[in-house]
Amino acid sequence: MASVAIALLARLGLEAFGKFYYLPLIPAVMLPALLASRRATALAIILSILANVVLVPRESLTDAIVNALLFALVGAAIGEIARAGRTARNRSVQLGSHLVKREATIQAMLTAASIVTLDEDSKIISISGPACALFKTSPDEAVGRPFHDFVEYFDPAAVQAAAGEQTAAEQYWLGRCSDGDLFPVGIQITLLPAADHACEVILTLTDLRLWHTAELRNQALNDQLNQVWRMNSLGEMAAILSHELNQPLTAAAGYLHATQADLGRAGVLADSASRTIDLAKGQVLRAGDIIRRARDLLAVDTRHLEPHRLSSILEDLEPILQMLGPPAGVPIQIDIDSADDRVLADRIQLQQAIVNLVRNAVEAVENEPLREVAVRGRAISTTRYRLSVEDSGPGVAPRQMDRLFQPMMTTKTDGMGLGLSVTRTIVERHGGKLAVDTSDLGGAAFSFEIQRTFSGDES
Ligand code: ADP
Repeated sequence: MASVAIALLARLGLEAFGKFYYLPLIPAVMLPALLASRRATALAIILSILANVVLVPRESLTDAIVNALLFALVGAAIGEIARAGRTARNRSVQLGSHLVKREATIQAMLTAASIVTLDEDSKIISISGPACALFKTSPDEAVGRPFHDFVEYFDPAAVQAAAGEQTAAEQYWLGRCSDGDLFPVGIQITLLPAADHACEVILTLTDLRLWHTAELRNQALNDQLNQVWRMNSLGEMAAILSHELNQPLTAAAGYLHATQADLGRAGVLADSASRTIDLAKGQVLRAGDIIRRARDLLAVDTRHLEPHRLSSILEDLEPILQMLGPPAGVPIQIDIDSADDRVLADRIQLQQAIVNLVRNAVEAVENEPLREVAVRGRAISTTRYRLSVEDSGPGVAPRQMDRLFQPMMTTKTDGMGLGLSVTRTIVERHGGKLAVDTSDLGGAAFSFEIQRTFSGDES
């Protein structure tokens, strides 16, 4: 309405120069088309026509109608063109801000990620800051050089051909720093569509040194556990042998002693035989000693218990447990209350006990429809912390519960029956008692308690 009023005033001012009909009213339609809605534009057209019909005398009605229709048509066209212009401008503003945001995101990614772009000859076009840090180089030094100067034998064409994909899976290579140091690096290759010749290959690099160190640490822990397992099971075998042989050896020594007494009655003639029997007795006693010593040498020695956090013990162990469970389709849930989890332990022996229980639990659920294994830990009093390994397997039959911890007791065709007896020995050396019960997961729950501590530099 305002724009029509202004246009009418303007036309009044122009009257001195001649007769203007609809021409001065065209800006009155353009203004709402540019600034307001379609309805405002239509209103401006209608008001302009009304004002013209009322204010400007025409020769005939037909002339008035034809001019009004013409103005309505031209007004509508102008309105639509102005509107289209406005929409296009808005979209270009939106697009502009979108592009600015995207550019900022890409720049942020480039500053945060190790990215290198290569041309079709594998020469470096650009290299991000983190990638420079990885190779201990600078963009000035690196740009334009072949990428295989930085990564031994790198050949993106071969990798791409092997992958046959636009984005290949990460591959592992040997990176070389400018000072000659070699390090493992993961490279993900992305090919840009052929139409864009600005850059052919985008490489996303991952420094695998940390991963490699973690892998080595896991390997070392695994080796240590295997070694401890061998020693523990040997110790357990020696204990069994010592137990089993003790009686026959004592009996043999007794018989030899009795024979010697008989020979004593035979007089000097039997002296030589008696001396031989002395030698035999010595050997029998020695055999007993050897077995006892073997047992002492190899048995679990947890005399030197130190403060440790159970959450940290489990954290170290997690990669090893993940090697036991998930490959067999058994997820392992670890739920350790880390608030009061300082305990006195021989770290590696306790880890051995937990691995033994988890291995059994995984084997117990392997053929079950529901496969669940959980390692749970809670402080149960100011002095004791309780650890349990539970599963959703078939559980342990009540009649088997008593025999379960005896050495050589196994229900598996390839079992040795040593796992639980070694675990029991470890737990007892920690001042605990290994017990078996039924878990709320539906299977067995093996649990033990261990001494809490409040002092010392736990690890
Ligand atoms: P092995 O695993 O070589 O048989 P173990 O001493 O570790 O020796 O286990 C002895 C037996 O105890 C197993 O053969 C199995 O019958 C039973 N057992 C151990 N753990 C579980 C469990 N989580 N669920 C059911 N039975 C178990």
